[in-house]
Amino acid sequence: MWAIVLTGPRRTEVVDSWAEPEPGDHDVVVAMSAVGLCGSDLGVHDGTRPTPALPWVPGHEGGGRIVAVGSAVRGLHVGQDVAVEPNYCCFSCSPCVRGMTSGCENRLSPGITVPGLLAERVAVPARFAWPLPDPVGPEVLACVEPFAVARSAVRRAGVTPGTDCLVVGAGSQGLLTCLSLLEAGARVFVTDPRDDRVAVAERIGARPVAPGPDAADGRSFPFVFDTAGVPAAWETSAHRVATGGTVMVIGMSNEPVGLSTMELTRRQLQVRGTLIYDHPDDFAATVAAASGVAGRLAGLLRPGVPPREAERAFAEARTAPGKSWIDLSGWGEDDR
Ligand SMILES: [Zn+2]
Ligand SMILES: [Zn+2]
Repeated sequence: MWAIVLTGPRRTEVVDSWAEPEPGDHDVVVAMSAVGLCGSDLGVHDGTRPTPALPWVPGHEGGGRIVAVGSAVRGLHVGQDVAVEPNYCCFSCSPCVRGMTSGCENRLSPGITVPGLLAERVAVPARFAWPLPDPVGPEVLACVEPFAVARSAVRRAGVTPGTDCLVVGAGSQGLLTCLSLLEAGARVFVTDPRDDRVAVAERIGARPVAPGPDAADGRSFPFVFDTAGVPAAWETSAHRVATGGTVMVIGMSNEPVGLSTMELTRRQLQVRGTLIYDHPDDFAATVAAASGVAGRLAGLLRPGVPPREAERAFAEARTAPGKSWIDLSGWGEDDR
């Protein structure tokens, strides 16, 4: 079958002789139709996030159509469109037992620790394959997973309708966070040093604020969502959050950020990291919401890239505004 494989740092190839998946009794086989790219994929792509093997099939955000069902699977059938929840938690470690599967100590992640989704067909544990209640296009399947990440951050923050929220960073996760906050009824503001990214956020309904920690408008926000995670963004997040407010940190970096205990206590700030989503409720809720926001999701997506131009999709994910995704719905046709 076809697959997009990483053969070395920043080198991908389309191959037609990749081994078919070997599904177990509890798996379904999904013919992939779309895969989105995010910062994690870029780390895999450039080699900073080493993979267990090379060549390696990357990709963790996506979905497609069920083409085979294991003998022990109940409630799923051939022909259903599903989104993949690409963090296979163990259900038995201490965080999992507490219901915090996002903290699973034995998590398997396609594209990162097990072979990924950029293949013609993929075996997926049935409990992590989510049928879409309404028909959606491949571009929505590419977004369900990162949308679940964003929606989980909003859920954990406890944002209520009408609240002013600032999203710091308008990369793909920042845009999806804007969308999740809009969906929650918040008044959404966004800041990013790049005007072209802010323009995409404005297109879906966010309002721009000037970049930098000391903006002239003097406005502060009860909730700040830091989707960049780098020191420069943190300066903005820490200065723009209101006294008594909360900074939700979604973006990740190894670089330390600065916050004195004096500032933390005097301003009574809450700083909370938020990682992926907790099985099963967050993904269930996102899948249920996906078709309702399909129009606005389309507003933050770049045009789908065909598999043979995968390298361009990775390059765009690195630099271009909007979310990049690879359209696999043409696998098996002549023009790949
Ligand atoms: Zn991702
Ligand atoms: Zn676990």
